[in-house]
Amino acid sequence: MSRNGANEYPIPKTMKAWVLGNPEELALVEKPVPEPGAAEVLVRVDAIAVCATDIEIIKHGLPAMVDGGLPFNRGFTPGHEYMGTVVRLGPTVDEFQIGDRIAVEVHAGCGRCQRCREGMYTSCLNYGYREKGHRANGFSTDGGFAEYAINNINTMVHVPDDMSDEEATLIVTSGTAMYGLDVMGGIIAGEAIVITGPGPIGLMGVGVAKALAAQPLILTGTRQRRLEMGKRLGADEVVNVNIEDPVEAVQRITRGMGVQYVLECSGAPNALNEAARMVNRGGRICLAAFPADPVPVDLAYLVRNNIYVFGIRGEGKSATHRAAALMAQKRFDAKMIHTHTFPLAEVPTAIKYARERIEDAIKVVIKIREN
Ligand SMILES: [Zn+2]
Ligand SMILES: [Zn+2]
Repeated sequence: MSRNGANEYPIPKTMKAWVLGNPEELALVEKPVPEPGAAEVLVRVDAIAVCATDIEIIKHGLPAMVDGGLPFNRGFTPGHEYMGTVVRLGPTVDEFQIGDRIAVEVHAGCGRCQRCREGMYTSCLNYGYREKGHRANGFSTDGGFAEYAINNINTMVHVPDDMSDEEATLIVTSGTAMYGLDVMGGIIAGEAIVITGPGPIGLMGVGVAKALAAQPLILTGTRQRRLEMGKRLGADEVVNVNIEDPVEAVQRITRGMGVQYVLECSGAPNALNEAARMVNRGGRICLAAFPADPVPVDLAYLVRNNIYVFGIRGEGKSATHRAAALMAQKRFDAKMIHTHTFPLAEVPTAIKYARERIEDAIKVVIKIREN
């Protein structure tokens, strides 16, 4: 509200939103604009990035879960990597103001289970149960392939004026990379890390790890163009695994010392076995991607060498806030991974570009509003 009581952001009764019918069926419909409750705001979605997980959800349902079941035919709106403008405040909200530009993290959690209390709200024990207060937009509650979305205030971070809408959609991806580094104990300047797989999380992992002064920072992958992008984001060395064995390359670069950390973002079947031979004794591996099928793992090697293996889901422990701070300080140029833009009406085309990597698409952004 402005001082004379007129809302600068008139809110219609209904909005355009994409909803999921059967698997692979998205339809653009008119839905009521939702009302924010206590500790919630209504966000006008200005831009949203397509994530590989959206594609999983649209095809298989999981990891989305609505009221304990698959998300099909429930009027559910997917999409979780969005940013926008706060246009209505729920009761008691004074942490944000109308007109604030914000980016979101996905998971509010339930706020009442052990994991949420520990800050591990992406692993909420009441995941998918809205009646217990759980929210994870685009997973268990309505997401951002729509003109408006409800967000809990604990899922929002301010976006600086000089950051574009498109770049702000990448904050949550950086947050996921930051969470992976957090669970391994956090990079200390001068520690060595390998990041395997130059997808969006891997590339943002390069930016975040370099901002935290990892050294050397080694990126491995198969696509030369993406490896070059990794170099521009801060990788000290890149290894094309089609040309050189990645384990040998890491040993060569580190003069046989190995690294302290591997952030695994490739999902390749042998990635964990290779990561185990990249870290030194007592090293740490975080899995941020996984292969589709079960794979054999050399467990004896992990145990004998006291290697720690972590898995992460999403962007817990306020990692998104820390990643957003690095981006606000321009410590790395996230914009580089944004390759394509489409309007809201073309969400299926945008998803096709992301899924099939048409024109080597990395991050495809839906720009809902021009500014
Ligand atoms: Zn995502
Ligand atoms: Zn919880």
